[in-house]
Amino acid sequence: MFESLKAMPADAILRLIREHAEDPRPEKIDLGVGVYRTAEGETPILASVKKAEQRLLDTQTSKSYIGIAGSAEFNAAMQELTFADSAGDDRLVTLQTPGGSGSLRVAAGIVLRAREGAAVWASEPTWANHVPLLGGAGLTLKSYPYYDTDKHVLHIEAMLGTLREIPKGDIVLLHACCHNPSGLDPTEDQWREITDVIVERELVPFIDSAYHGFAKGLEEDVFSIRHMAARVPEMIVSTSCSKNFGLYRDRVGTLSLLAANGATRDLLASNASSLVRTLYSMPPDHGAAVVAIILRDGALRAEWAKEVDEMRGRLQEMSKLLNAALKDRAPEHDFSHLERTNGMFCFLGITAGQIAKLKEDYGIYMVDSSRINVAGITPDNVDYLASSIAAVL
Ligand code: PLP
Repeated sequence: MFESLKAMPADAILRLIREHAEDPRPEKIDLGVGVYRTAEGETPILASVKKAEQRLLDTQTSKSYIGIAGSAEFNAAMQELTFADSAGDDRLVTLQTPGGSGSLRVAAGIVLRAREGAAVWASEPTWANHVPLLGGAGLTLKSYPYYDTDKHVLHIEAMLGTLREIPKGDIVLLHACCHNPSGLDPTEDQWREITDVIVERELVPFIDSAYHGFAKGLEEDVFSIRHMAARVPEMIVSTSCSKNFGLYRDRVGTLSLLAANGATRDLLASNASSLVRTLYSMPPDHGAAVVAIILRDGALRAEWAKEVDEMRGRLQEMSKLLNAALKDRAPEHDFSHLERTNGMFCFLGITAGQIAKLKEDYGIYMVDSSRINVAGITPDNVDYLASSIAAVL
């Protein structure tokens, strides 16, 4: 029967990673892959994570099943990290999920069960996997304007204009911070405006928080979540610990569902459980157990927060460095938007032909939209990168 299958197109990023790996040029640069990298080009295990893993190894006494919602300690710690006390006491349920992707998939199932005909409105553009992940689960996806490609600014008026037209009850997918792919986030005032429209139009916010700590700080980056949780009756929040804890392959995330009251919260918990049971039964334990140890231990938590600060600082520094180098090499072009973006990703704003030339002639790899991962830049390669970009402009 398997011969009836049709070959699927390769994932664009995975193809890029392979092409980069096979490129023999020593000066090659990978700006495609979505992982944090140090100035040495490594994606290290955080020191706080290593210590927590050792503690886990020394103290864990069983590998018995963990349960459908995962670890209660992890869920409580992540709920506190994400929401603080913004959601009140009894309206929120949080489940441990296999990464942010697992969380998004379970959220899609809950939406489909609760309001089958509802559409999910995503920013244009949004993370490349939002559409296949949520659409593949059966949701209808629509889009609202977000990024002004010419001016490299947030299209806030157009965004609010579309949100004002969205049918009551539809779902609005938002990025808590470090918007992927543009790196442009609403200001706190803009988040207040977005929330006002969501409340007025009785929409349901669905916030994807995959880069908590990578934009401005651990408190600042969850402003949208906490502000909305205090104002809206219902909300969905997916978090990922892939980037901020560097636990990519351990698959750690949460799904938090905010209900209008305690009774509906219980309905959500029961539906989320039954859904998870049919998808993957239970989440993997190791990474979440590590996160719980870190967040519940004052010293380890402080060490982790410092490591997040360092990662954020390096990303900010590299955006500045690239902008400065481009100002020097290509003074007739304006790349100042690089410094206005948050987190790992931003658009360089160059054409497909220029992207192809960078790959062919210089071994510089980025996806076709010109989204770059700033973590691929180092003080050692920034000059080569800027001169190569200048040469293809
Ligand atoms: N959401 C966004 C916007 C992302 O960029 C990512 C990862 O790149 C995720 C969710 C999911 O991350 P993971 O499934 O690795 O936790």
